[in-house]
Amino acid sequence: MTDSQLTNSIEKSAAIFRSARRVVALTGAGISTRSGIPDFRSPDSGLWNKVDAMTVASLSSFRYQPKEFFKWVRPLVKMMIDAEPNPAHTALAELEQAGFLHGIITQNIDDLHRKAGSKRVYEIHGHLREATCTSCYRKHDAGKLIDAFVRTGALPYCDHCLGLLKPDIILFGEQLPTKIICEAQALIDEADLVVVAGSSLEVMPAASMPIPALNAGAKLVIINHEPTYLDVRADFVFHDDVADVLPMILQEVLSEPQETRRLSKNQ
Ligand SMILES: [Zn+2]
Repeated sequence: MTDSQLTNSIEKSAAIFRSARRVVALTGAGISTRSGIPDFRSPDSGLWNKVDAMTVASLSSFRYQPKEFFKWVRPLVKMMIDAEPNPAHTALAELEQAGFLHGIITQNIDDLHRKAGSKRVYEIHGHLREATCTSCYRKHDAGKLIDAFVRTGALPYCDHCLGLLKPDIILFGEQLPTKIICEAQALIDEADLVVVAGSSLEVMPAASMPIPALNAGAKLVIINHEPTYLDVRADFVFHDDVADVLPMILQEVLSEPQETRRLSKNQ
């Protein structure tokens, strides 16, 4: 894409944003790479290649080799709690605040959308803010537990029954959180613009979530380094870094005077 093609696509994408009534963003690992969190599917991500992530980050690994699981997850957790939102997260938060984004569905567990200030976030692969006891199923606030775990590497146990605590992230082989999935699907079904940001749309259920909205006539903008299977259905595709493109779209969306924007949102 040349500079003028890019500018043209940014302007036209921003125009779709301004005319849409309900915009939903679907985000994946690609939105957080600029924050220093590698995408483990990407071949050059050093951390993840050292072990087979699909094996160690699985429910059976957690159950039968918890020490191995926690040893593997420790540097990753440290990386996530230390990470800061990048301009892509911030742009989505600002779009929501300005009334141009209805919600975010994310495959990420890194909490960076909330750290950036986004309010309506559906974390379909879970998060690290809480942990659940594998014996009595009590929920535990993970804040202090994570600090201690990252510092010492000691396995976290329930203070009520001494059962092992599992962070509320969805592991391979584990059932996805049905309630969140249904709510997220309902949100995106109502969208008349879907923005895919930093997801290659290779993992279910996120990969198929935009389909009902698209079949109902929703517009689609995709910003992702790699091609996706939905590129052919997109109004605009940017094979660029989402941390570069989203701020440009934000700037263009907000370039329209406030008064006109308010009117157009009320139509
Ligand atoms: Zn317990």
